[in-house]
Amino acid sequence: MAREHACRKCKSLSSGKVCPVCGSTDLSSEWTGLVIIINPEKSEVAKTLSISKSGRYALKVS
Ligand SMILES: [Zn+2]
Repeated sequence: MAREHACRKCKSLSSGKVCPVCGSTDLSSEWTGLVIIINPEKSEVAKTLSISKSGRYALKVS
């Protein structure tokens, strides 16, 4: 089972080699915590994590 990678810049999760949110290729397979952002404008979690796009994000990326 292929694990998703988390972007080190914006923490977005993806299964590809390029982050779909910010276009970075600086991805890590070492991440913990999963946050699903559906409505970033109304989400306190999104504000805390500086997320402006809906999607799936890691809480911590190492
Ligand atoms: Zn990114």
